[in-house]
Amino acid sequence: MRYCSHCLQPDTRPGTIFTAEGICPACDYFQHHEKIDWQERYETLIDLTAKFKQTSRNKFDCIIGVSGGKDSTRQALWVRDKLGLNPLLACLTYPPQQVTKRGVDNISNLIELGFDVVISAPAPKVWQSLMREGFMRFTNWCKSTELALFSAVPQLAIQYKIPLILWGENPGLQLGDLNTLGRTGYDGNNLRNMNTLGGGGMDWIIDAGFAEKDLIPYRYPSPDEFTAQQLQIVYLGWFLGDWSLVNNGMYSVASGLKIRDDTVENTGDLYGITSLDEDWVTLNQMIKYYKFGFGRVTDYVNEEIRLGRITREAGICLVEQYDDSCGESYIESFANYIGISVEQFWENVHGSLNKQLFDINSRGRITRKFKVGTGL
Ligand SMILES: [Zn+2]
Repeated sequence: MRYCSHCLQPDTRPGTIFTAEGICPACDYFQHHEKIDWQERYETLIDLTAKFKQTSRNKFDCIIGVSGGKDSTRQALWVRDKLGLNPLLACLTYPPQQVTKRGVDNISNLIELGFDVVISAPAPKVWQSLMREGFMRFTNWCKSTELALFSAVPQLAIQYKIPLILWGENPGLQLGDLNTLGRTGYDGNNLRNMNTLGGGGMDWIIDAGFAEKDLIPYRYPSPDEFTAQQLQIVYLGWFLGDWSLVNNGMYSVASGLKIRDDTVENTGDLYGITSLDEDWVTLNQMIKYYKFGFGRVTDYVNEEIRLGRITREAGICLVEQYDDSCGESYIESFANYIGISVEQFWENVHGSLNKQLFDINSRGRITRKFKVGTGL
């Protein structure tokens, strides 16, 4: 395990390759930020979206996937108020046991801000069984739900015949998942290759015996369907010079976004602004830390280091203190939802612990072998 010499990104992130100088892809991208002509990019976007602008008032110009959180609130407002487009917002909701009141309020906020929102809700029993299957097989309950989250938007784009899909960040440039890079910095049609969607996507679900008819919300449209409908995904993050977790949070709070009020010890969410529509992502972030050696706090501080708002040393302290954070109540409610005990939960987590990066004693206490910021 090696760390980026500039931020705290370890090279254990799937799909990441550091430069010869030991810089992570996200820092490498950010270093070129100063030389970017943002006005030129903005004009490129105006030209690009003009081609999709509908002459008919009966049609939406574009579709944006929203959770109601900081990124989607900022995107929706920017697209409508700055680009002058008429977007349809597409929201995939969680079952009642999973969705937070805060998440529902944030979607209501978007509706109150004047947007048309189409809400889709996959059948809850299948959703629940898939989450259990994903957790038991991979110690990753998001494996199925992410398929649905990513698939809902192009599926609805096809249904509503809206060829332009606006997406937020470019996972290739801004996170370092290089398989998603397209022909240009804003071409998102290779999003299908991202870690979540690639690698056989649905095979394990079919293998687990789920019926095809129950899996429609989880199917990402094929390249042929994209071509037939002339769908184009565009990453807005490429055009926004100040796109970041914290900036998006600030813009959106000013427009009515409700944020998390739990402690950092319970959530690993330094500013309380990520994944606001549900709380179990917290335990998945903790598990990510035990698998790859980095969690939610690392993702936060890396952006803050790049933006020059904190030092690498201050980042190390935060990561050491909080990267494995997860409140017990979230683990209990999750275990209860998928029908396992808290002991089974931990058994599963311990089973997927990265033994190269962590030690575990007979009482289940986990200690890291690596030094944050230095590596192994
Ligand atoms: Zn870096």
